[in-house]
Amino acid sequence: MAEKPTAAFVLSLISGIFILLGGAVIAAIGATIFAFVPALGLVLGVIGLASGVLVLVGAIMLYMHTEQHVTWGIIILVFSILSIFTSLGGFLIGLILGIIGGALGIAWKPQPMPFPGYVAGYPAGFGPYGPPPTPVAPSGYATPTTVGVSASTPTTAEVPAFCKNCGAALPPGVQFCPSCGTKVGV
Ligand SMILES: [Zn+2]
Repeated sequence: MAEKPTAAFVLSLISGIFILLGGAVIAAIGATIFAFVPALGLVLGVIGLASGVLVLVGAIMLYMHTEQHVTWGIIILVFSILSIFTSLGGFLIGLILGIIGGALGIAWKPQPMPFPGYVAGYPAGFGPYGPPPTPVAPSGYATPTTVGVSASTPTTAEVPAFCKNCGAALPPGVQFCPSCGTKVGV
Protein backbone atom coordinates (compact mmCIF):
# COMPACT_ATOMS: atom_id res chain seq x y z
CA MET A 1 0.00 0.00 0.00
CA ALA A 2 3.01 2.28 -0.37
CA GLU A 3 2.40 5.53 -2.17
CA LYS A 4 4.03 5.78 -5.60
CA PRO A 5 5.63 8.84 -7.25
CA THR A 6 3.01 8.64 -9.99
CA ALA A 7 3.30 12.22 -11.26
CA ALA A 8 7.11 12.01 -11.50
CA PHE A 9 6.79 8.61 -13.22
CA VAL A 10 4.25 9.73 -15.84
CA LEU A 11 6.07 12.99 -16.65
CA SER A 12 9.43 11.21 -16.89
CA LEU A 13 7.93 8.47 -19.06
CA ILE A 14 6.48 10.99 -21.55
CA SER A 15 9.79 12.89 -21.41
CA GLY A 16 11.73 9.72 -22.19
CA ILE A 17 9.50 8.94 -25.20
CA PHE A 18 10.01 12.43 -26.66
CA ILE A 19 13.76 12.35 -26.00
CA LEU A 20 13.87 8.92 -27.65
CA LEU A 21 12.05 10.36 -30.69
CA GLY A 22 14.52 13.26 -30.78
CA GLY A 23 17.33 10.77 -30.39
CA ALA A 24 15.91 8.73 -33.27
CA VAL A 25 16.18 11.80 -35.52
CA ILE A 26 19.81 12.27 -34.46
CA ALA A 27 20.43 8.56 -34.92
CA ALA A 28 18.93 8.76 -38.41
CA ILE A 29 21.31 11.63 -39.21
CA GLY A 30 24.10 9.53 -37.72
CA ALA A 31 23.12 6.61 -39.94
CA THR A 32 23.34 8.89 -42.98
CA ILE A 33 26.73 10.20 -41.86
CA PHE A 34 27.85 6.67 -41.04
CA ALA A 35 28.30 5.96 -44.73
CA PHE A 36 30.86 8.77 -44.94
CA VAL A 37 32.23 9.13 -41.37
CA PRO A 38 31.46 5.86 -39.54
CA ALA A 39 32.80 6.92 -36.11
CA LEU A 40 30.81 10.16 -35.93
CA GLY A 41 27.67 8.48 -37.25
CA LEU A 42 27.93 5.72 -34.65
CA VAL A 43 28.50 8.19 -31.81
CA LEU A 44 25.49 10.29 -32.87
CA GLY A 45 23.30 7.21 -33.09
CA VAL A 46 24.33 5.89 -29.69
CA ILE A 47 24.14 9.14 -27.73
CA GLY A 48 20.92 10.11 -29.48
CA LEU A 49 19.13 6.99 -28.32
CA ALA A 50 20.95 6.61 -24.99
CA SER A 51 19.43 9.70 -23.32
CA GLY A 52 15.88 8.65 -24.17
CA VAL A 53 16.47 5.09 -23.03
CA LEU A 54 18.09 6.23 -19.77
CA VAL A 55 15.24 8.64 -19.00
CA LEU A 56 12.73 5.83 -19.67
CA VAL A 57 14.71 3.41 -17.49
CA GLY A 58 14.97 6.11 -14.80
CA ALA A 59 11.20 6.63 -14.89
CA ILE A 60 10.45 2.90 -14.57
CA MET A 61 13.08 2.35 -11.86
CA LEU A 62 11.78 5.39 -9.97
CA TYR A 63 8.35 3.77 -9.94
CA MET A 64 9.55 0.24 -9.16
CA HIS A 65 12.19 1.14 -6.56
CA THR A 66 10.73 4.13 -4.76
CA GLU A 67 13.42 3.93 -2.06
CA GLN A 68 15.97 4.94 -4.76
CA HIS A 69 13.86 7.92 -5.88
CA VAL A 70 16.73 10.41 -5.44
CA THR A 71 19.14 8.40 -7.62
CA TRP A 72 16.67 7.85 -10.46
CA GLY A 73 15.33 11.39 -10.18
CA ILE A 74 18.86 12.72 -10.71
CA ILE A 75 19.38 10.39 -13.68
CA ILE A 76 16.11 11.57 -15.28
CA LEU A 77 17.05 15.22 -14.61
CA VAL A 78 20.63 14.90 -15.92
CA PHE A 79 19.78 13.01 -19.11
CA SER A 80 16.82 15.27 -19.83
CA ILE A 81 19.19 18.26 -19.75
CA LEU A 82 21.81 16.34 -21.78
CA SER A 83 19.15 15.70 -24.42
CA ILE A 84 19.64 19.33 -25.47
CA PHE A 85 22.93 18.14 -26.99
CA THR A 86 22.08 14.53 -27.78
CA SER A 87 18.42 14.28 -28.75
CA LEU A 88 17.16 17.71 -29.87
CA GLY A 89 15.98 18.22 -26.28
CA GLY A 90 13.22 15.73 -26.94
CA PHE A 91 11.58 18.44 -29.10
CA LEU A 92 11.65 20.65 -25.96
CA ILE A 93 8.70 18.70 -24.52
CA GLY A 94 11.00 15.91 -23.37
CA LEU A 95 13.43 18.40 -21.87
CA ILE A 96 10.79 20.29 -19.85
CA LEU A 97 8.85 17.21 -18.70
CA GLY A 98 12.10 15.44 -17.83
CA ILE A 99 13.28 18.32 -15.64
CA ILE A 100 9.90 18.49 -13.86
CA GLY A 101 9.62 14.70 -13.56
CA GLY A 102 13.18 14.31 -12.31
CA ALA A 103 12.76 17.12 -9.77
CA LEU A 104 9.48 15.59 -8.56
CA GLY A 105 11.21 12.22 -8.29
CA ILE A 106 14.02 13.68 -6.17
CA ALA A 107 11.62 15.62 -3.95
CA TRP A 108 9.14 12.74 -3.64
CA LYS A 109 8.49 11.41 -0.14
CA PRO A 110 6.37 8.41 0.76
CA GLN A 111 3.28 9.40 2.74
CA PRO A 112 3.40 7.57 6.08
CA MET A 113 0.37 5.39 6.75
CA PRO A 114 -1.74 6.65 9.71
CA PHE A 115 -2.09 4.30 12.65
CA PRO A 116 -4.82 1.88 11.48
CA GLY A 117 -6.87 1.99 14.70
CA TYR A 118 -7.24 5.75 14.48
CA VAL A 119 -8.74 5.89 11.00
CA ALA A 120 -11.17 2.99 10.72
CA GLY A 121 -14.29 4.36 12.39
CA TYR A 122 -12.53 5.90 15.40
CA PRO A 123 -12.94 2.89 17.76
CA ALA A 124 -13.87 3.24 21.43
CA GLY A 125 -15.42 6.65 20.82
CA PHE A 126 -12.09 8.39 20.55
CA GLY A 127 -11.26 10.90 17.84
CA PRO A 128 -8.60 10.57 15.17
CA TYR A 129 -5.86 11.20 17.71
CA GLY A 130 -6.59 8.17 19.89
CA PRO A 131 -7.45 7.84 23.56
CA PRO A 132 -6.61 10.67 26.00
CA PRO A 133 -3.48 10.26 28.11
CA THR A 134 -3.68 8.41 31.42
CA PRO A 135 -4.14 10.92 34.32
CA VAL A 136 -1.02 11.33 36.43
CA ALA A 137 -1.13 12.73 39.95
CA PRO A 138 0.89 15.95 40.38
CA SER A 139 4.10 15.71 42.34
CA GLY A 140 3.45 15.86 46.08
CA TYR A 141 0.07 14.11 45.82
CA ALA A 142 -0.53 10.44 46.28
CA THR A 143 -2.08 8.46 43.44
CA PRO A 144 -5.81 7.69 43.85
CA THR A 145 -5.07 4.01 44.51
CA THR A 146 -2.88 4.74 47.56
CA VAL A 147 -5.42 7.23 49.01
CA GLY A 148 -8.27 4.74 48.68
CA VAL A 149 -6.40 1.92 50.44
CA SER A 150 -5.37 4.02 53.44
CA ALA A 151 -8.82 5.63 53.82
CA SER A 152 -10.71 2.36 53.70
CA THR A 153 -8.55 0.70 56.37
CA PRO A 154 -10.94 0.11 59.35
CA THR A 155 -10.13 1.56 62.73
CA THR A 156 -10.40 -1.26 65.28
CA ALA A 157 -8.87 0.51 68.25
CA GLU A 158 -12.02 0.64 70.47
CA VAL A 159 -13.40 -2.78 69.57
CA PRO A 160 -11.90 -5.80 71.40
CA ALA A 161 -10.72 -8.55 69.14
CA PHE A 162 -12.15 -11.33 71.34
CA CYS A 163 -15.07 -11.73 73.68
CA LYS A 164 -14.18 -11.29 77.38
CA ASN A 165 -16.78 -13.92 78.34
CA CYS A 166 -16.35 -16.79 75.89
CA GLY A 167 -13.21 -15.84 73.96
CA ALA A 168 -14.93 -15.97 70.56
CA ALA A 169 -13.51 -13.82 67.77
CA LEU A 170 -15.48 -10.60 67.34
CA PRO A 171 -16.10 -8.90 64.00
CA PRO A 172 -15.25 -5.17 64.10
CA GLY A 173 -18.08 -2.81 65.14
CA VAL A 174 -20.39 -5.35 66.86
CA GLN A 175 -22.27 -4.39 70.07
CA PHE A 176 -22.80 -7.92 71.39
CA CYS A 177 -20.82 -11.13 71.05
CA PRO A 178 -22.34 -13.25 68.25
CA SER A 179 -21.41 -16.42 70.14
CA CYS A 180 -22.69 -15.83 73.74
CA GLY A 181 -24.50 -12.50 73.60
CA THR A 182 -22.35 -10.68 76.17
CA LYS A 183 -22.13 -6.92 75.58
CA VAL A 184 -18.82 -6.02 73.97
CA GLY A 185 -16.50 -3.51 75.67
CA VAL A 186 -18.07 -3.68 79.16
ZN1 LIG B 1 -18.91 -14.26 74.05
